[in-house]
Amino acid sequence: MILTGRCSCEAVSLRIDGEPLAVRQCWCRRCQKIAAGGPTHNAIFRTDAITVEGEVASDSYLADSGNTLTRWHCPTCATPLLAGSSARPEMRVVRLGVLDPPHELKPTIAIWTSEAPDWAIIDPTMQAFPAQPPAPPTSQS
Ligand SMILES: [Zn+2]
Ligand SMILES: [Zn+2]
Repeated sequence: MILTGRCSCEAVSLRIDGEPLAVRQCWCRRCQKIAAGGPTHNAIFRTDAITVEGEVASDSYLADSGNTLTRWHCPTCATPLLAGSSARPEMRVVRLGVLDPPHELKPTIAIWTSEAPDWAIIDPTMQAFPAQPPAPPTSQS
């Protein structure tokens, strides 16, 4: 599929040409901080499927797994754009909020549900993981 996206101020745009490997909702505490209290919503694509235009900024932290997590955002409007793990450079997470509607992506997996607040309503039809699940296979089939 071909998808396009942009940050709030439109200084950064994305183009994706490929199939999503997974679409997930993440309730980890770090995601709650960038998502204003809720989960982030993330589509995982092969890194080579994604083209970014415009200047982006990033921050990185050492995850409990020992891997370095990097998150990219617009330096002007701070819209979260992408994230990736040092353990899987061939994959990138795309924040669902930046994608231009309409598109068919919706989360089918909820992760880090152990860190969700008491009031969180997690769709019971989603596959749920209390912490980090295994990485999706990189093949598109
Ligand atoms: Zn922006
Ligand atoms: Zn998270």
